Amino acid sequence: MQGFYSKLDSSSSSSPLLGMGVGGEGARVPLSLAVEAEKAQALLQTFSSASLLASAGLGMFCVVADHVLQLSAVQHHLWLRAALDNATHGLVGLWSWAVVIGLRKRSDLYEVLLAGLLASLIDLDHFYMAGSLSLKAAVSLPQRPPLHCSSLIPVICLTLRFLMWMGRLKDAWCSLPWMLFISMTTHHIRDAVRHGLWLCPFGNTAPIPYWLYVSTTTTLPHLCSVLMYLTGTRDVISTKHGVAIDV
Ligand SMILES: [Zn+2]
Repeated sequence: MQGFYSKLDSSSSSSPLLGMGVGGEGARVPLSLAVEAEKAQALLQTFSSASLLASAGLGMFCVVADHVLQLSAVQHHLWLRAALDNATHGLVGLWSWAVVIGLRKRSDLYEVLLAGLLASLIDLDHFYMAGSLSLKAAVSLPQRPPLHCSSLIPVICLTLRFLMWMGRLKDAWCSLPWMLFISMTTHHIRDAVRHGLWLCPFGNTAPIPYWLYVSTTTTLPHLCSVLMYLTGTRDVISTKHGVAIDV
């Protein structure tokens, strides 16, 4: 991830935000100071009241959605239960990524929709493993399907990051591995309430307590933001989203 930071740091002439570096009295500030100010502002946004309120709302949404799924009208209809359960996975992934990046412009909306879609599509591996489009077969597998192996999350995300580095994809794509991390992790933690976490090849943990699922889901976007900040991805995103520098 360091490569993104280095690229940002050395490309001031191509970035009007970084190139300006103008202070309150119109005095020019050193570029390094402007970059540091932008990074600090990006990190502060992670813990802004709006961001914390959004993640608290996410926790409440999880509880309400699970109550709806427990209704007997839902429990007795296999397709309805599966559709609502999968939609909840998608909305939790979408909401989590919205907390990470904030919604400021139209392209942010596309990003959060993609995060939600990825969180939902993970369950397609049930059908792959069943070798059938039968929902009954897909939900009664003898073992967990491949995309539900939690050990794969760091492997897939780091491999994607490496491939992007090899392909020299531009900064606009820098957040993709983190988006995938959020989509997969929120899905796995939610499934872990019933099935535990599958840490292949070591086996399954016990089902996790419900409070742990809700608290992990609400804190994960903030943890992700901090990790993105520490790895230099966060300031690239904030530049992409046009955070103004006001030092
Ligand atoms: Zn699942």
